Parts: sequence; structure tokens; C-alpha cells
Amino acid sequence: MIKIATNEKKELFGIPPDELGHFFESIGEKRFRAKQICKWIYSHDVFDPMAMTDLPMALRDWLSENAKFTLPEVVELAKSEDGAVKFLLKLSDGELVETVYIPNPEQKRHTVCLSSQIGCKFGCRFCATGRMGFRRNLSSTEIVGQLYIARNYIRDTGNQLTNVVFMGMGEPLDNLDEVLRAIKVMLSDVGFGLGHRRVLISTIGIPDGIEKIIESGLKPKLAISLNAPDDQLRAELMPATKKYPISSWLPLVPKYAEYSRRWVTFEYVMFDGINDSLIHANELVKLIKGLPAKVNLIPYNEVDGVDLKPPDRRMVLRFQSYLLANGIVATIRYSKGKDISGACGQLAAKSVMK
Ligand code: SAH
Ligand code: SF4
Repeated sequence: MIKIATNEKKELFGIPPDELGHFFESIGEKRFRAKQICKWIYSHDVFDPMAMTDLPMALRDWLSENAKFTLPEVVELAKSEDGAVKFLLKLSDGELVETVYIPNPEQKRHTVCLSSQIGCKFGCRFCATGRMGFRRNLSSTEIVGQLYIARNYIRDTGNQLTNVVFMGMGEPLDNLDEVLRAIKVMLSDVGFGLGHRRVLISTIGIPDGIEKIIESGLKPKLAISLNAPDDQLRAELMPATKKYPISSWLPLVPKYAEYSRRWVTFEYVMFDGINDSLIHANELVKLIKGLPAKVNLIPYNEVDGVDLKPPDRRMVLRFQSYLLANGIVATIRYSKGKDISGACGQLAAKSVMK
């Protein structure tokens, strides 16, 4: 029988099932209790241990006394004209975080964009999150909590969650342990049951972090925010380039592609008159030609107080055509949710300021 009583209640939400299994073993219970409990919470939305009818009564009693399942609270829900939905979530310490649901019914894709941190240390000039500074890391409980809330919303609209992208607030590779723990819950068949290819991490390119994903054995898709074809221009837009120049992570691109058996994506946010000329396109071709990677062009979404503009659509198409003509796979991402400040780079949990 279980001997321990904890002073602080043990968090059971958003914890990898294998970790939970070890925990139950450590308190003298069966390892498979973890799987049973995960099924109750993620598949049946049951959080009251007394209702977990396949658990022994003594364990149900113990859980009621000693365990907790912490979910964020939805404080605001904003719906865009284009279908995107932004959730403003309040965490247990009162901090606020944003999560965005991006429906794409034509392609039967229902994507949730998750935050990994509150704020961000890297201060990219064009990013609302970067401009708010860094507040703290999110725990796997808080990351999975975002997904759980969005997943249920999607389900209530008669659809099914298909993809998760770490493109919300924060730099996932700067909080990698918690991000990987959260991904384990997403991939588990007693968690969210997503495939490796359904989860994507977007990063500014932190070499140690990329190596660490490889060591973990998990295989999320990888996107690297390139945004400029050379270090000098990139550093003007993304100061972290001084610490992590392109050459520090570029060799990891073929390595990661081979490891994950998927091409890497280079995100390239386009700014009018800054990085959108054919000279830039040509430099970009030279930089990445031959790599197992494609380019995703993202017209800049405007952020208050930033003196940058998106290019005309014509310029974006011209840039794309140049890449395609030179053998680079290139797509354009027109962001959804601009009218609710839910598009790429616009998340800043504004109510913090209110
Ligand atoms: N920190 C990670 C993930 C979050 S940002 C990263 O930087 O990759 C996700 C994507 O949004 C990145 O590709 C980033 O370059 C892009 N982005 C940031 N601000 C943007 C803006 N104002 N308009 C368009 N894209 C933006
Ligand atoms: Fe941080 Fe990414 Fe925004 Fe840069 S673009 S400030 S790395 S969240």
C-alpha cells in the first residue's frame, strides 16, 4: 500500500506517462496505473480520482488527497474572421500566455500553435514576444495544458486536432527539457496520440539544442528562422545571431534531416526593402542549395512600435519564383489571425499590460 503523503500535492497533468509510471512504482503502486490515469484525463476528461473506476479504491483515496491536475484558465477567447482562435490563458501564478488554433479545413488540418515561454530572451526586432522581454519558462504541465484546452475546443467544433507547432511565445530550444517532456505526452497513445511528424519545433537555431533533440530520440519536425541570408543582416534583425551565427548550426541541418527523415524548413520573414530583393534571394540560394531543406516565406505581420513593413505581394511572389527557378522548394505562408493579433510574431499576452 502507498506509504507516502506529500506535503505539496503531486502534479499529474502534463507529465510523460513513463515518468508517471516510475513515480507510481516509487510509491509502491503498479507502473501501469500511469497509463490508466492518463487515459482518464486526456481521453475521457475525467479529473476526479473517485470517478476513475478501474483504479483500486485505496489509490483513488490517495490521489484525492495527494494529487493534483492543473489546467490553465481561459480568460479570453478571440475569434478571427479567418477562423483562427486565440486563447488567453491564465496560469496558476497569474502569468498569462497565448495559444492559437489555426484551422485549415480545405487541407483537413487543425493546427495548434503553442507557447514555450512567457516572453523571450532573444529580442528579435520584429517580434512582439521578443519586445516584451523574458518572464519565465513554461512547465510541461503548462504546455500540455494549452494543447488540452485547444484540443477540446477543436473537438467541440466537430473537428480533430492534427498538428502542433511550437511557434507561439518563446524559444522552444531555450526551454527544451520541458518542451520534450510535453512532446512525450503528445506522442503517447495514452496522451494525445499524435505522430512525430505532426509536431514541429521552430527555433532561431541553437546548436546544442538541436543536438539534444537528436539525443532524446524524439523526432519532431524542425523549422529554423533564418530571415536573412548572411550574419550581418540577420544580426540586425535577430541579435542572437552574434551568439549563434549561421555557421554554428547550418551543418546540423543535413544531420537533423537524416535523423528525422524529414526535410528541415527555413522560415524567412520578409520585410519591405530589407531582405526581399533578388540579390537576397540569390544569396539565399547560394547558402542553402543542396541542403535537405525548403523555404517558407512569411510576409511580416505588423507589430506596434516596429518600424518595418511587409513587402507587396508582388515582391514576395517574385522572390518565391526566383527560389523555385533555382531549384529551391519554397512556399508562402499567409498568416491567419492578424485581426486578433494572433499571427506569427504578434503574441504578447497583451492583457498583462492592461
Ligand atoms: N522562437 C522561435 C519560435 C517562435 S516565433 C523562433 O523564432 O523560431 C515563430 C516564427 O514567427 C519565427 O519563424 C519568427 O521568425 C516568426 N515571426 C516572428 N515575428 C514575426 C512577425 N512579426 N511577422 C511574421 N513572422 C514573425
Ligand atoms: Fe524569441 Fe522567436 Fe520572437 Fe525571436 S522570433 S524574439 S526567438 S519568439
